[in-house]
Amino acid sequence: MNDRRDVPEHLRIKREPQRGVYDRGTIDAILDEALVCHLGFEVDGQPYVIPTLHARIGDRLYVHGSAASRMLRHAASEMRVCVTVTLLDGLVLARSVFNHSINYRSVVVLGMATNVEGDEKAEALKAFTDHVAPGRWDEARQPTEQELKATWILSLPLTEASAKVRTGPPEDDPEDLDFPVWSGVVPVHLAAEPSEYDWLRVRDGRIVAP
Ligand SMILES: Cc1cc2nc3c(=O)[nH]c(=O)nc-3n(C[C@H](O)[C@H](O)[C@H](O)COP(=O)(O)OP(=O)(O)OC[C@H]3O[C@@H](n4cnc5c(N)ncnc54)[C@H](O)[C@@H]3O)c2cc1C
Repeated sequence: MNDRRDVPEHLRIKREPQRGVYDRGTIDAILDEALVCHLGFEVDGQPYVIPTLHARIGDRLYVHGSAASRMLRHAASEMRVCVTVTLLDGLVLARSVFNHSINYRSVVVLGMATNVEGDEKAEALKAFTDHVAPGRWDEARQPTEQELKATWILSLPLTEASAKVRTGPPEDDPEDLDFPVWSGVVPVHLAAEPSEYDWLRVRDGRIVAP
C-alpha cells in the first residue's frame, strides 16, 4: 500500500498529506520502537483513550491488559478500536507561534480486536516482555496459570494502518525570517537512566532496604 491512491479513504491523512506513509516497513518500525500505545474505544457513546503496552508479531498488533480492565473487556467484544503510537523526535521552534510544530513519527491502527488464547497468548506475552527488555522473557520466571488468566491480550490485524512522519526544520513564513528570535529544532528522545533499587535485599521473604 505504498501508493496513496491504493489507500482506503478512512486511512488517508488529509492535513499535510505528504507526511502520510502507508508502507508496512515504516509502520512496523514505529510500532516496534514505541514502548507505549493508546487504545481508543467507545462505551455507550463515551469515547475512551487508554494508554497501555503493545507488541507486534508479524502482521498482528497485540495490546496488553488486565482481565479486570474495562478497556480490554469492551475492546474484545466485537468492537472496532483504534490504537495509536507516537514517537517524539524534536521540538520545532519557529519564528512565529503559529508555525511551531513537533517532529514525530506516529501510527494509527484501526480494526476489530479479538481476545487471544493458548499458544498465541504465550507468544504475545513473550513479545511484550522482550519488547520492553529484550531477552527478559527467558531470564525471568514464567507466568503461572493464574497469572495467565489474569492477563488479557487483544490482537488486531495490521491491515488498516497509517503512519505520519514530520522531519526537518521549522517552516517559517518569508516575512518572519528577520524576526529577532531563535528558530530551530530541539531534538528530544526517550532515554534509559542508570537502574534504580538494585540495592534492595530480600530478608525473610520480603524486600527490604539493607
Ligand atoms: C506529537 C504530535 C503532535 C501533533 N500536533 C498537531 C497539532 O497541534 N495540530 C494538528 O492539527 N495536528 C497535529 N498532529 C497531527 C495529527 O495527528 C493529525 O494528523 C492531524 O490532526 C490531521 O489529521 P487529518 O484531518 O489529516 O486526518 P483525520 O481525518 O483525523 O484522520 C484520517 C486518517 O488519517 C490517518 N492519520 C491521521 N493522523 C495520523 C497520525 N498522526 N499518524 C498516523 N495516521 C494518522 C488515520 O488513519 C486516520 O484514520 C500531531 C501529531 C503528533 C504525532
